[in-house]
Amino acid sequence: MTTTAHGTGKIGPNAIIQTVAALREMLGDDAARAVLVRGGAGDLPDRLPHELIDEREFHALVELLIEQIGEERTNQVMARSGQLTSEYVFANRIPLLARVLLRLLPPSLGLRMLLPAMQRHTWTFAGSGAFAYDLTPTPSLSIANGTLFDTPAMAAAMCAYYRGAFEQMFRKLICPQATLRELECQARGDRRCRYAIQCS
Ligand SMILES: [Zn+2]
Repeated sequence: MTTTAHGTGKIGPNAIIQTVAALREMLGDDAARAVLVRGGAGDLPDRLPHELIDEREFHALVELLIEQIGEERTNQVMARSGQLTSEYVFANRIPLLARVLLRLLPPSLGLRMLLPAMQRHTWTFAGSGAFAYDLTPTPSLSIANGTLFDTPAMAAAMCAYYRGAFEQMFRKLICPQATLRELECQARGDRRCRYAIQCS
């Protein structure tokens, strides 16, 4: 099953808010701001968005990070940003009943309920990316961004973000040890990032 969710290229403000938070967490406030200043976005911490943003604003921030702190640290920041984004969604957007119910169900049933809901809502952080999933033979999900990312470094950073977000959501809602095993990756030239969902 595949959807090109929304197709507007709009995403929630959390993508930027949590990326700045993750950068501060890694470097401390002063060094984080210095990175943003050098990249020409020094006022970003003071004007964090509150409403839907164009996904390109988010991608510009990720490109800034790649230029200023390098690919490896950017991937770490983006993985943490994805986790923080899911923490926010979990705390603010998922009804208590669903949280309780999903944790009580066996993982396969929980995924059967959760993945369609994720498909409807993934646009909030994946923008124009196309989300798809399979329940059998092994549960997996994928996201395809077409030609949106200019470089392998950018695709890798966004892959780290998606993976961090999905993994954290599964840990909160499906099984505490959930991990995503990468099957395909846009940073390696595949047409999508695809991950197998594992509970042990
Ligand atoms: Zn990937």
